[in-house]
Amino acid sequence: MYAEVLIEYPTKKIDKYFTYKIPSKIDIKVGMKVKVPFNNKVINGFVVDIKDTYNDTYELKEIISVVDPELILSDELIKLGEYIKDNTLCPKISAYQVMLPSSLKIKDDNTNYNFYKTYIVLNKDREEIQEYLDNYNKENYQSDILYRLLDYDKLLKKDCNLSAVKSLKDKGLIKEIKENEYRINISNNSNVIKHRLNEEQLNVYNTISNDNSFNTYLLEGITGSGKTEVYLNLIDKVIKEDKTAILLVPEISLTVALVNRLYDWFGSKVSILHSALSKGEKYDEYLKILRGESKVVVGTRSAIFAPLKNIGIIIIDEEHSDTYKQENTPRYNAIDIASFRAKYHNSPLVLGSATPTLESRARALKGVYKHLLLTKRAGEGMLPSVSIVDMVKEIKKGNYIFSEELINSINNNLKNKEQIIILLNRRGYSTTITCSNCGYTYKCPNCDITLTYHKSTNNLRCHYCGYTIKKDDMCPNCHENGLNYLGLGTEKVESELEKLFPMARIVRMDQDTTTKKGSHERIINDFKDYKYDILLGTQMISKGLDFPKVTLVGILNADSTLNIPSFRSNERTFSLLYQASGRAGRSNLKGKVIIQTYNPDNYVLNCVKENNYNKFYEYEMNNRKIMKYPPYYFLVSLKVVSNDYKKALDNSTKVVNYLKNNLDKTSIVLGPTTANIFKFNNMYRFQIVIKYRFDNYLIKVLNYLDNIFINMSDVNLEIDINPLNI
Ligand code: ADP
Ligand code: ZN
Repeated sequence: MYAEVLIEYPTKKIDKYFTYKIPSKIDIKVGMKVKVPFNNKVINGFVVDIKDTYNDTYELKEIISVVDPELILSDELIKLGEYIKDNTLCPKISAYQVMLPSSLKIKDDNTNYNFYKTYIVLNKDREEIQEYLDNYNKENYQSDILYRLLDYDKLLKKDCNLSAVKSLKDKGLIKEIKENEYRINISNNSNVIKHRLNEEQLNVYNTISNDNSFNTYLLEGITGSGKTEVYLNLIDKVIKEDKTAILLVPEISLTVALVNRLYDWFGSKVSILHSALSKGEKYDEYLKILRGESKVVVGTRSAIFAPLKNIGIIIIDEEHSDTYKQENTPRYNAIDIASFRAKYHNSPLVLGSATPTLESRARALKGVYKHLLLTKRAGEGMLPSVSIVDMVKEIKKGNYIFSEELINSINNNLKNKEQIIILLNRRGYSTTITCSNCGYTYKCPNCDITLTYHKSTNNLRCHYCGYTIKKDDMCPNCHENGLNYLGLGTEKVESELEKLFPMARIVRMDQDTTTKKGSHERIINDFKDYKYDILLGTQMISKGLDFPKVTLVGILNADSTLNIPSFRSNERTFSLLYQASGRAGRSNLKGKVIIQTYNPDNYVLNCVKENNYNKFYEYEMNNRKIMKYPPYYFLVSLKVVSNDYKKALDNSTKVVNYLKNNLDKTSIVLGPTTANIFKFNNMYRFQIVIKYRFDNYLIKVLNYLDNIFINMSDVNLEIDINPLNI
């Protein structure tokens, strides 16, 4: 027998199948990951086909081994890989790699999984262990065990060198625990709160649960209208029919809140998949799904590839979130993948949001999606009152960060023991440091942007490439004492809050405070348990969270998102502010939202104030129509990238000419222009944009260009079909 194997080599130059002989002693199935000899190396690959004949003269090599006998891509996922390749123009192997957990190296012992086993785990903070390893500076069984524990959290004791385990235990660095096989363990909770659905919720539930075919539903429900409650009921019904469900959420912070509710309802039938899990946890969850023990998978974008069988429903919560689009290869959108899978299983797809994208809403109004509405808050909550504060006037009064109204409201809340959320969509301390003496500004040497100052570490960082330097005391250019901190970040807001409200308990949640594993959970649970009065954070805290005691939401600098140069900046601002407002007044306490801005007359902000999505939709659809943007036109973004300025420019001009000559006459080709961040990681980037409605030549033309650039070593072409931003 012969196997067609796709080599794990993510370059399009060798993105094709190679034939290998199957040794008689190995049991090979289509979809398995195998080790094969390739160019004198051993490399991983996927078996995509098995044949019993081979009629070439070239002598074939043999498959060496199977990476993991349990890990088999289903027929559905193999087809999905083809779909991703065809629709995003990625190498086929990247399409398969994105479906699997990154590490498959953990050995599986194939014994009975219901037994308790002895594991070893770290007995000290990860930082302490890291420090110990740095000082220890030796490579032996002991250090190997510690490094593996840092990666995988826990290891089966019997797989480790036992005398090394003993020494590490004697040093107090590790301890033994007895546990069930899987790293994430869930106990069923008996006091689950299930609400009786109200009339609107019931209507939505009935419509979707009576549908046994592939249809896409847009569930447009205001914040707090009980969408999640409907999801839980739909999933419950699907599980009772012995089918499975996927629930996607936009951010890890939201899986935390939701996972607790799912555990309450479905116990150990739930699996979680997101990037903050350790490699070991991901692997376990993946296996649990493959073995059919999980019936519900909840997670972020890549959880859409969960190897569930017999899917009965797919739900995408907060469908407007841009995190559903992957920004590097393969540039897929989880909603498209969901659509493929729902169609394959002939089951409904539900897109939920209080502020759907204009694309989704337009489709719903045209009848392409079925439109369902939840118009009232489900619990006792009422929609909050929203006020817009003119910061131009406040600055004249000397209030640079917090307006008088916001300060008074915070004081009021602290007095009444009600909680507060403060949102600022910028992390760090200040967004630029400039010298008032000579005008020097700290800039990234690799990218075309200024560096952000982080006070806690006293350094300046590039938020694009990660470049970091220590801050100087004096200006590095003129050596005078003139450095000024401009632009506001969450770190600075935190220190200002501490000064203004010394008695308040404040917690900050942004990318900088959530790098440690488990920190999302800790912040959210502590805030929910009223261990803090004020939660301060970036857009990470704006969506989906349900804190009954929050009655005040303050939004600092609402202009920061309005001014982002993107055709979506109005839409983003509206949904960010509307969602953030939705965090206030979710119980019987009346909520209040204060939006601080330099443009108090801005139309988008006033739509938020009126809580009027319809009005915003009409206004913005008209803009999009005039500007020929989605949903009226589809977009393709092409970037020609090179570290050689001239080569990048010359090639982008050639690309434009080719496109103009070969695309449909109704398509519009714009550019080349310099990309938004022109220099990024020392690469120059020129952008070309295609706007089209119907273009039968498009994919052929893009493939042609793609193939030309594959063989160039010093210039790259990045193609993004349906990009979120251009
Ligand atoms: P959404 O997902 O639309 O923001 P949730 O499902 O989180 O809304 O519901 C908001 C709040 O209302 C939650 O505290 C939830 O427990 C409560 N809730 C939901 N449905 C009902 C209902 N039918 N009756 C009473 N309370 C409900
Ligand atoms: Zn940089």
